[in-house]
Amino acid sequence: MAKVSPFHAEDSDVYHDNNQCTEGNNIEDRNRKSGTGGKRKCDHCKRL
Ligand SMILES: [Zn+2]
Repeated sequence: MAKVSPFHAEDSDVYHDNNQCTEGNNIEDRNRKSGTGGKRKCDHCKRL
């Protein structure tokens, strides 16, 4: 498990901050934005 800088996909309503999150890893590079985007934290990242 490793914390990373927050990132999110523009078409999602959550952000991710863990490099083990499968949902976060599924974000395509072109859709991936840095920062929280003012979104809530991903439920999967909360558990990691
Ligand atoms: Zn996540």
